[in-house]
Amino acid sequence: MKIRAVTGVKDILPEEIWKWRFIEEVSRKTLEEYGFAEIRVPLFEYTELFLRSIGQTSDIVEKEMYTFEDSKGVNISLRPEGTAGVVRACIEHNLISAPSMEKFYYMGAMFRHERPQKGRYRQFFQIGAEAFGSEGPQVDAEIISMLHLLMDRLGIRDTVIEINSLGCSACRPEYRKALKDFLGTKLDLLCSDCRRRYEVNPLRVLDCKNPACKDAAVNAPQGMTCLCGSCMTHFESVKEFLTELGVPFKFNGRLVRGLDYYTRTTFEITTDKLGAQNAVAAGGRYDGLVEDLGGTSIPGIGFALGMERMAALLPEEMQRPNRIDIYLAPLGAEARRRALLLLHGLRSRGIRAESEYQERSLKSQMRQADKIGAAFAGILGENELARGVLLLRDMQSKVQTEVPLDQAVEKVWEQILKVHT
Ligand code: ATP
Ligand code: MG
Repeated sequence: MKIRAVTGVKDILPEEIWKWRFIEEVSRKTLEEYGFAEIRVPLFEYTELFLRSIGQTSDIVEKEMYTFEDSKGVNISLRPEGTAGVVRACIEHNLISAPSMEKFYYMGAMFRHERPQKGRYRQFFQIGAEAFGSEGPQVDAEIISMLHLLMDRLGIRDTVIEINSLGCSACRPEYRKALKDFLGTKLDLLCSDCRRRYEVNPLRVLDCKNPACKDAAVNAPQGMTCLCGSCMTHFESVKEFLTELGVPFKFNGRLVRGLDYYTRTTFEITTDKLGAQNAVAAGGRYDGLVEDLGGTSIPGIGFALGMERMAALLPEEMQRPNRIDIYLAPLGAEARRRALLLLHGLRSRGIRAESEYQERSLKSQMRQADKIGAAFAGILGENELARGVLLLRDMQSKVQTEVPLDQAVEKVWEQILKVHT
């Protein structure tokens, strides 16, 4: 029997890897322009870290974590999200101290035991960022506008930024009560999960994907109605800054987040292009989290975006870039010998070069050149060899030129530069 990949995880194959690299490169550049420094934290942590940060009543902790005991009986979990590990590392290495602003980003795999479906995997990749040290609404607006710029640079259109405020420890209880009063009249319409959420964490009912629960919550009270004075002022400023920065956004009074640690500003970027899995990025403020995890009281805000969903949203007309600059197609033993030398010369010059190593027809060599995404083919037959030339073929335009074999490296270099500029 063939062994297959574990249910719910997927391989990212060479033919689509360019999308991932493109998203990573553009994200890195953008995040670093905004002052974020890369941090790489472990893929697994003590389970307790996630219990304390994400919250016992969250979907993630209740049913999605990959938790196990190692051979010494230590309770470990694969990370279901990135924020908890980053905050843990910041406290452990004294990376943050108010009032100075410290910003970090990460990229990597997350693990959640969810029901696998299109756009939802058990191992998936996120790019995330966390900014510590300021309660100011500027930071909220800056992070949201950075995401807006990032989407634009990636060519991802048709997304909507939704924002809301969840209030703080002073005003959230009032909202929770208002929501509970409302949902109490709808209990028989809710799914069994939501009936339990109603007891332990009623806000989470608003995040349920079940259509019946969504319907039942349509007229639920909005968080805004309960915000205290300082949360209200904060949220108004965030919206003003976003408007000044020219970032379009939609207020959604019923937007909540699935994790317990969020406070005040919360946001999500959604699209109608991915079916049921409509969230591409999400985040918000978590002013109490650092303290909850044993640090001093330092406010923070962050987001995470789902790379699989971003890759699916890249514009269709985007072309796979050439993976190889030149594919050498030698014909005959002598040409293959010469090609070996030339390959070495090209690669030493920094040119991505590949070749055929066995006797094959020119036609099948050209097919191979196309398949591996070569910008040029370099044909070296007996005729070319005798005349001391290399026949250079632009794989896209099919235009062919001859270059002297003893200057081939420089001539190929010049041609590649022309293609890249
Ligand atoms: P969803 O509402 O889709 O379940 P979430 O609220 O659980 O998302 P977050 O924890 O906020 O998601 O993660 C941020 C982003 O990571 C999401 O917007 C999504 O793009 C992506 N993401 C989350 N879970 C998965 C998954 N299982 N597979 C692929 N991408 C995911
Ligand atoms: Mg989820």
